[in-house]
Amino acid sequence: MAKITISKANFFNNLDIIKKRTKSVEKIALVLKDNAYGHGLYEMAKLAHEYGITRAVVRSNAEAKTIEEFFEYILVLADIPKVPSKKIRYTINDAQNIKEFPKGTFVELKVNTAMNRNGVSIDELNTSIELIKKSGLCLESIFTHHSCADELNGNYERQKANFLQIKQNAPKDLRFHSCNSAALFREEDFDEDMVRVGIAAYGCLDLPSSFKEDGLKPILALYANKLSSRKISKGDCVGYGATFVCEKKEVVSNYDFGYGDGFLRANSNTYKTPQGIEIAGRISMDNSSFLSDANELLIFDDAREVAKYANTISYEVLTSLKANIKREII
Ligand SMILES: *Cc1c(COP(=O)(O)O)cnc(C)c1O
Repeated sequence: MAKITISKANFFNNLDIIKKRTKSVEKIALVLKDNAYGHGLYEMAKLAHEYGITRAVVRSNAEAKTIEEFFEYILVLADIPKVPSKKIRYTINDAQNIKEFPKGTFVELKVNTAMNRNGVSIDELNTSIELIKKSGLCLESIFTHHSCADELNGNYERQKANFLQIKQNAPKDLRFHSCNSAALFREEDFDEDMVRVGIAAYGCLDLPSSFKEDGLKPILALYANKLSSRKISKGDCVGYGATFVCEKKEVVSNYDFGYGDGFLRANSNTYKTPQGIEIAGRISMDNSSFLSDANELLIFDDAREVAKYANTISYEVLTSLKANIKREII
């Protein structure tokens, strides 16, 4: 079976770098949604706890419950609980939903500063805060999300200015947070109450070259095992659709992973491993062939490189990896 390795040293290296920017470990809220970006929710929560991280961000209540033992604070981005929790905070993404939360729930109000995806509008902010109080919910913070923290098109500055205005007008006993990974590395002097950091902790942050990434390292690698091997000659084809046609005598081996395990089929025909080993033909559900004889093959150790072949982003490469692949902390 294919396996995933997680480098604890690289993860801690990334957290050290993040901590330098936040100036305290308490301000780091590690984003663990979607199986910790494919790294393994429970495994990454445990490692983060070992490092000293006390805050986490997830998508659902079920994810929050899985890792509750490791954190003092968990923010759920998109779910409504049946009963309130002392540890778990829930996001209000729309003023219409306020009434659905049970009394006593700790909530954080998301405000739309121009991404136009989730959050109440700036005009609705004060009435939303009042409704939250009237509904018996405990409002702890106001937060927003950036659409263009990793792009240089002026939207980041626009949203930042909107959020600054909100901070100045909102009740002072609330907490405020707006930064994801790219925003944290973009800011010269981070001074918010918390950062919601995902991709940087996993070492796959991609920023315009004008911003420094300070030595973040990818932490996930995917290895596959050989199922079978054969010699092929000029004219022989490999795999579905016979898209690989052999040009000279080669050894081709078939490895035990495919798009069913989350290795994007868009990598078919062109992909090369970090060691320069070429894929032969199409990726199938449980099988991929490479021009190699190795028993174990490193498929990738930097999701950003795979993303280039598949014309996507590292986030999709990582979160596509199925939860049933064995994760090994090294
Ligand atoms: C996913 C997510 C993040 C983390 O983003 P990264 O780019 O991985 O750091 C932060 N905040 C919210 C609201 C998110 O949905």
